[in-house]
Amino acid sequence: MKISFDLDDTLILTENDAIYENPVKMIKSLLYKEKLRKGIRNLCEELKSLGYDICVYTTSDRSAGYIKGLFSIYGIKLSNIINQRVHKDLVQGSRKEIMPSKVPSKFGIDLHIDDDISVKQNGLQFGFNVLIISKHDRDWAVKVLNEAKRIKKLKSYDT
Ligand SMILES: [Mg+2]
Repeated sequence: MKISFDLDDTLILTENDAIYENPVKMIKSLLYKEKLRKGIRNLCEELKSLGYDICVYTTSDRSAGYIKGLFSIYGIKLSNIINQRVHKDLVQGSRKEIMPSKVPSKFGIDLHIDDDISVKQNGLQFGFNVLIISKHDRDWAVKVLNEAKRIKKLKSYDT
């Protein structure tokens, strides 16, 4: 199973009162201006033990190499990175009609986490699972984990 996370305002917060995860690679973290949200490391460990591979799905132009490096500071190994370029190539392609900003199901993703309500609306329309998390939510990791458990249970009924 796969879970994907949005970056801006979901895992990468910019508010003054944002709380950040402690890096496991201190020196390497000095090379990166951006930091990940507090709770991501434990959450990813729990998700992995549930059987989820961790992915990033962002509409930003950050390179896959940069994103991979940023997560490695926290000891998180990503199984897939979808940035704007990958999304454009695979989802929009040469289609004339405007496609949604994200279509996680195209990449075999079972659950996507985002702060943007329009992604949830697209999920209802196009048939993929989205959990909306506010950037101010201190209990965000518990909510992600509970939803991941719920989706896993649903999928196990499927097969
Ligand atoms: Mg966002």
